[in-house]
Amino acid sequence: MRRKFCRFCSEFAATTIKYSGLPLCKKHFVEYLEKRVFKTVKKYRMIQEGERILLGVSGGKDSIALLHILKDLQKELKFEIIPLFIDLGIQLNKYSQLSGEIARKNCEKLGLDLITVKIKNEYGFSLDDVFSKRLKRPICSVCGLIKRYVLNRKAIELSADKVATGHNLNDEASFILQNFINMDIELLSRLSPIQPTFNKLLIGRIKPLFEIYEDEISLYVTFKNLEYIDIACPYAKEASTLQLKNILIQLENIRSGAILTMVRGFHKKLKPILQNKQKIEEEKELTTCKLCGMPTSTEICSFCRLKSKIIKN
Ligand code: SF4
Ligand code: ZN
Ligand code: ZN
Repeated sequence: MRRKFCRFCSEFAATTIKYSGLPLCKKHFVEYLEKRVFKTVKKYRMIQEGERILLGVSGGKDSIALLHILKDLQKELKFEIIPLFIDLGIQLNKYSQLSGEIARKNCEKLGLDLITVKIKNEYGFSLDDVFSKRLKRPICSVCGLIKRYVLNRKAIELSADKVATGHNLNDEASFILQNFINMDIELLSRLSPIQPTFNKLLIGRIKPLFEIYEDEISLYVTFKNLEYIDIACPYAKEASTLQLKNILIQLENIRSGAILTMVRGFHKKLKPILQNKQKIEEEKELTTCKLCGMPTSTEICSFCRLKSKIIKN
């Protein structure tokens, strides 16, 4: 098969954007992807001049890519990046330790100080402790709860304006599909690439990579020679979204661009209808947890309930 040339220079194309047929060399692919993220950030007004953005850096390819892309965006927009690594205490394959080292090395390379929160030291239990208790709730769901709690809490402590995470297009699509299957209209109507700050205890969240395919992020980190943790989390096989993600990839193989069309269409067309039906109040009535003071809709927040379950047992 004849090799294609990059659309923007005389180099051979290193990849072709499947859903648009655009052939690109490594350099122009990296630029193309960064431009698309910048466009998303601007379109949804995710970051404003002068804001402090707390970025959850797990050491995985998504958050490492986002770290480098946001650093680059600082040339155009003046804002602050506060990178934070949550050490979940996953000992198998030294997963947490290695992830933390990679996150730190990437931050050092960019002249950023990485903040580390070791949940065992700060809250008295690790994700391994959670797993050993064999709770009914899936481990990845508990892990998500822990990460959201820690990011929000640290964002308040560090006076951050927003929390950025590396969720990509495939994550967003599998979340939509999962909640569609469960017919969880409330969760679907609240799903957004930018969640505004409701009050001073619930910091807004942004997902600048939500329109970028997972395999595009893999290419980005490879073409840029970025170091990331390339072994899977030992609990990844427990993730219920894994099979849904595989189904979505099959769908994408049958019809290029299907995932992107679905996610964009969901946010643009379907979500406004769901929101109308659901009549979501912009400012949900939240109270504060009796134990930790964080926002919750019940007397004790779900993080504190989890903590007491793990530590009491
Ligand atoms: Fe957490 Fe599951 Fe991701 Fe592991 S795979 S880091 S347990 S969400
Ligand atoms: Zn080129
Ligand atoms: Zn609490």
